[in-house]
Amino acid sequence: MVAIDSSAFHDRASTTDTVLAQSSALGGRFTFSLLREDASTFGRRGRVETTRGSIETPIFMPVGTQATVKTLSPQEVRATGAQIILANTYHLMLRPGADLIRQAGGLHAFMNWHGPILTDSGGFQVFSLAAVNKVKEEGVTFASHIDGSRWTISPESVIDLQLAYGSDIMMQLDHVLGLPAERKAIVDATERSGRWLDRAVAAYDDRDGAATRSVLFGIQQGGMEKDLRIASARRVAQTDVAGCAVGGLSVGESKDVMAEMLEISTPELPRNKPRYLMGVGSPEDLWHGVARGIDMFDCVLPTRTARNGGLYTPDGRITISKSIWKHVHAPIDETCDCVACSEYTAAYLHHLFRAGEIFGMRLASIHNLRYLARQMEEIRAALDAGAFATAFANFDARYRPIASRGTPGNPVSALGEQRS
Ligand SMILES: [Zn+2]
Repeated sequence: MVAIDSSAFHDRASTTDTVLAQSSALGGRFTFSLLREDASTFGRRGRVETTRGSIETPIFMPVGTQATVKTLSPQEVRATGAQIILANTYHLMLRPGADLIRQAGGLHAFMNWHGPILTDSGGFQVFSLAAVNKVKEEGVTFASHIDGSRWTISPESVIDLQLAYGSDIMMQLDHVLGLPAERKAIVDATERSGRWLDRAVAAYDDRDGAATRSVLFGIQQGGMEKDLRIASARRVAQTDVAGCAVGGLSVGESKDVMAEMLEISTPELPRNKPRYLMGVGSPEDLWHGVARGIDMFDCVLPTRTARNGGLYTPDGRITISKSIWKHVHAPIDETCDCVACSEYTAAYLHHLFRAGEIFGMRLASIHNLRYLARQMEEIRAALDAGAFATAFANFDARYRPIASRGTPGNPVSALGEQRS
């Protein structure tokens, strides 16, 4: 595979930028700088600096569930323009185990990715994948989806796991609910998430987290209840964390509802800290999320979709295995500079998918990650130029989203759809 020179995607803003607002952690070794705010939306241009490199925001983070972005080497992931990746605490805890990763010198050395890594808390997977699960105030007991073995995680143990991994950004344990859910259950889970945040911060301080290379983010919950979303956002905003995440969205609700939840709650979050919308990553959701003040996104969807032959183009998502591509001796996307588009044709990719060849999955994964990285580059450039609203309108006029949302009645499968 021909690697793409990642320096081609260098779009770091000038160091002479005016900083509108800033926050720091780790004694100044982790900072977020707000560089520009869009005049007509909540869109923000910023920069996160970590001990393992800086991240220009808004950013999409590819997901390496099992300490690998499926089918790709770290070099290939980097070459798509990725600045930070995500790994899953739950999966790595079960296999190969935190002790083994610590012995390997941490996650970066173990998987040979030396840029920033964000790890989630495992809460989402415990509530969506594990044979669930008994929630107590102390923590959650669950059965492994691999072998049925019994495990317990707590706000404190999740900090210990992530410190063992040595990730750059750690997430608190939160209580995630699927939809539909009764208001009483949402109130209960949201309040517990708040109490667990306080315990996560206490554990982080107790382990002298400020002396490590890892910062802690808090997570806003609240289901689709406006008052709970706002209250939860305020609680995270008042807590001593390096960043604020929005959890529990993109779980089967309509896009309008997700937009409304973001619109009412992101203004409650601190202007000077990064905001991370968890588990969201379709092309259209990234634009909508940026317009509502989000800085960071992650999702397995681009790579999972790619392995199933779903490829993003400026007009929408195509299915490469369909017979209409059989005789198309041209790139999937003429505008794309990835290896799949610059060196192979749609007809060849169609053949690879029809034949079940792994190389097809690899090319498709590279293309979708590069597509999203280019989209985020376009978004950042538009924010820099004060032209975000126009760029968004141009995207919206052309890109036709897949109508895939809204599968009520099966909260677990709806939860599992977007992340793993
Ligand atoms: Zn491409």
